[in-house]
Amino acid sequence: MSLNKDYVKLKSKYREIFFQCLEEAKSTDNLVNVWHNEIKSALKSINTERAACHCGGCGVCCRFAVSEFSPAELELKAKNGDKYAFQFIQTFVPYSSINEAREIYPEYVEFLEKNTDGVFYIYYCPKVTDDNKCPDYENRPQICRDFPEVSGFFLPKTCSFTVWKLKSQSVWLKINAMAEIMNFMKKDL
Ligand code: SF4
Ligand code: SF4
Repeated sequence: MSLNKDYVKLKSKYREIFFQCLEEAKSTDNLVNVWHNEIKSALKSINTERAACHCGGCGVCCRFAVSEFSPAELELKAKNGDKYAFQFIQTFVPYSSINEAREIYPEYVEFLEKNTDGVFYIYYCPKVTDDNKCPDYENRPQICRDFPEVSGFFLPKTCSFTVWKLKSQSVWLKINAMAEIMNFMKKDL
């Protein structure tokens, strides 16, 4: 299945879960407390299951990091104290052409071309070795340790975290729907 179809399926799944949560909200007393506890425990179990998975070493995440920000924008954000931008720009450099990135993950480039306004930048880490090793694995940056996050969109097909990601997806969508509804209720008060 193409990433585009996966994306459409994901959006429709989110809609379905969102309406289920709305129904649940109507019949739940002390909703904010109940949902906060549910979210806390769901995140805990997502993280526990993630900790049981191990990187298979395909190297794609070291060679394919997408950002909506250009290198200059990331530099500026980093200068203004954005820690994520700082780590990102310390770790990754931009591909000189989109076709270079396409060689690594063609489906994702195609997806970005179809589903964005064309403003995206793809980066790679110049340190990753030809046999997909990190030369300083023990001291790799936090952003590398944190990959993949459950909030991430699509994993490379070769990623060994795929089973965990698919298993966590519905739970993650529910957490998002609950948060969206609670934010809406807060604004409405
Ligand atoms: S620092 Fe290491 S783990 Fe991080 S992207 Fe580069 S090679 Fe990969
Ligand atoms: S994409 Fe997944 S399996 Fe491949 S190197 Fe990154 S974390 Fe490891």
